[in-house]
Amino acid sequence: MIIVMKPNASETAITQVVKLIQDNGLETHLSQGKEVTIIGVVGDKNKLVNKNIELMSSVDKIIPVTESYKLTNKKFHPEPSRIKVGNHEIGPDTLTVMAGPCAVETEEQLLTIAREVKKAGAQFVRGGAYKPRTSPYSFQGLEEEGLRYMQEAKKETGLNTICEVISAQAIDAAVKYVDMIQIGARNMQNFQLLREAGQSGLPVLLKRGLAATIDEWLNAAEYIIAEGNPNVVLCERGIRTFETATRNTLDISAVPVIKSKSHLPIIVDPSHATGVWDYVSPLAKAAVACGADGLMIEVHNDPEHALSDGPQSLNFKHFDELMAEMKAYIQLAERKL
Ligand code: PEP
Ligand code: MN
Repeated sequence: MIIVMKPNASETAITQVVKLIQDNGLETHLSQGKEVTIIGVVGDKNKLVNKNIELMSSVDKIIPVTESYKLTNKKFHPEPSRIKVGNHEIGPDTLTVMAGPCAVETEEQLLTIAREVKKAGAQFVRGGAYKPRTSPYSFQGLEEEGLRYMQEAKKETGLNTICEVISAQAIDAAVKYVDMIQIGARNMQNFQLLREAGQSGLPVLLKRGLAATIDEWLNAAEYIIAEGNPNVVLCERGIRTFETATRNTLDISAVPVIKSKSHLPIIVDPSHATGVWDYVSPLAKAAVACGADGLMIEVHNDPEHALSDGPQSLNFKHFDELMAEMKAYIQLAERKL
């Protein structure tokens, strides 16, 4: 449940409510706005029966929350979250573009791509150093060496960097080299990994699982935030359906649904959603038009020879065109790159 304090309730009154809840064996999470403080209560609310919290003079109202996720819930945190990465903010005022190769292949490849995506307006370079491939015989990534190239790309271009992690060891390595970590679709319900990502101290991009409901996705985000890391951004990347014309089906409705249920930013990845480079541009525009906070787009210097996901990667010319065409949509959405 959520306790909404009266506007301008004193510190002492807030502490009194918090203490009452904690003394009864429940956890509290404070969300302090300019005027109103909201206290999220996590745990078995039956322990508070007969405590008459709603009668306390500093309490405005109590909102029961039926969803099992609390910290992710918009009821607990009505304002949209703003996630800081370096000097960039992911949130309602910006349109964040994360672009780069599926996999880091060589230092030269990554640096060439980073320079180009920077020129076109992206604020992040993405690149996989640990690749969760369907076949164990496919290219698995350069691991720590790839992370070092990401760090080089940041040094040279000033772009923020994001890299997927697939294990606790990968997280330990990533914290040394990159600005943000990504939990991929295949690991969305790897609860131990989510906890470790929560403890890493880095902002986390949490992709939606291949067959995960929005409720399961928000509960997965809850695992990260419950470790004390509120810096979570969601990424819709398509879900499995009966349709085979595209690699997955982009659930564009996830954007407004998430906006109605959660305060977390949501970005859209039309590359993995479709698997076809030619479909990326229209869906990127649709995502911006329907309120997404950003995009993740795979870009490669030579898609035909990419070690992974070549067919869905934009070449430099197509990425430039997309970024130019997107300007009008970004303006209409009242955001800035
Ligand atoms: C990726 O971003 O490289 C990736 C593997 O994506 P997903 O987890 O969405 O399949
Ligand atoms: Mn990929």
